[in-house]
Amino acid sequence: MWFYCFMAQLQKHTLVHLPYNANRSNLEKHILKRLAEEENFDKYMNYIHNPKDHFKSFIRDEVHQDIRDKFSISVQPKMNQNIKVLQKKILTAAHESTEDVQVKCGDVNLWLKFFTQKLSDVLIFSVKDFSGLKHDDVDDFKLLEDVIRTELSSIMTTIRRECNTDTFDKKLDLNNRPDEILIDHFCQCCWVQCPFCKAICTNTINYHDGDHSVPFHRVHGINGWSYSGTTNLSASICTTEVASNQYLCTSDGARVSYREYRRAGGVYAKWSITPDLSELPYWKWFVCRFQKDLEIYYKKTFKGKGKIPDEWRQYTKQEAIES
Ligand SMILES: [Zn+2]
Ligand SMILES: [Zn+2]
Repeated sequence: MWFYCFMAQLQKHTLVHLPYNANRSNLEKHILKRLAEEENFDKYMNYIHNPKDHFKSFIRDEVHQDIRDKFSISVQPKMNQNIKVLQKKILTAAHESTEDVQVKCGDVNLWLKFFTQKLSDVLIFSVKDFSGLKHDDVDDFKLLEDVIRTELSSIMTTIRRECNTDTFDKKLDLNNRPDEILIDHFCQCCWVQCPFCKAICTNTINYHDGDHSVPFHRVHGINGWSYSGTTNLSASICTTEVASNQYLCTSDGARVSYREYRRAGGVYAKWSITPDLSELPYWKWFVCRFQKDLEIYYKKTFKGKGKIPDEWRQYTKQEAIES
């Protein structure tokens, strides 16, 4: 019973102790940091093109790891301790029963009666539970004590093995799983991505009124954008591009000045992108680090107009993470 109470407590605990219980933007910072640490291009692509999927699996992994850590730190030692205490009580009860029966010149039935009485506060069973036992086979009640002594340790080993981290995680209440609760919490917000760079709108309301916006845009080439008529991936960033004299070509062939990108209509009209020259090193480091992977992925190159500025190559992973 204590085991299940403990699990319920742990569920609440897990929710409270995750480092980003505030909002999705904070969670996204953790995700970006983890992505940079792992340097796994496939994971980056999943995050860029299927952000909701990536958020969900990140939350699941984090919660499972959190549960595993908590299990080994607080649950497992307590469980082992309880098993030891229980084992000792059963052995003591068996030994005392033998002594008592000897004093009273009793038989196997009396031994079972004493034994179940002595354990009534820790285990719920009665003499009836031993009805399958053929008393003729065990005419010497001393044998019972020996059987319990030898069988008990293997039973306890099985219990220990079955209550490991994996089964513990699986046994958590399916309707009230901390990872599903967190996914609900974090995913009820806007998931619309910038049409140029795929940055996710940071509005906390799904299907909100007004424009979509995000404080930090990314390098266009991350989304596979190239300069019109070339296979040169774009190294531009939305916030500088909207202040430039460049033109954007929409999929239906329209040519619109970046300064008036909203005139392109559709998804472009619904975004608020304000000119800003203060750019973070994060995505600049990313395109340098994964230039080859991006070029293979999109079958285009960062060449010509899309040449990556030399100064971007000086950013370290650490600077990217800190930004
Ligand atoms: Zn953008
Ligand atoms: Zn939005």
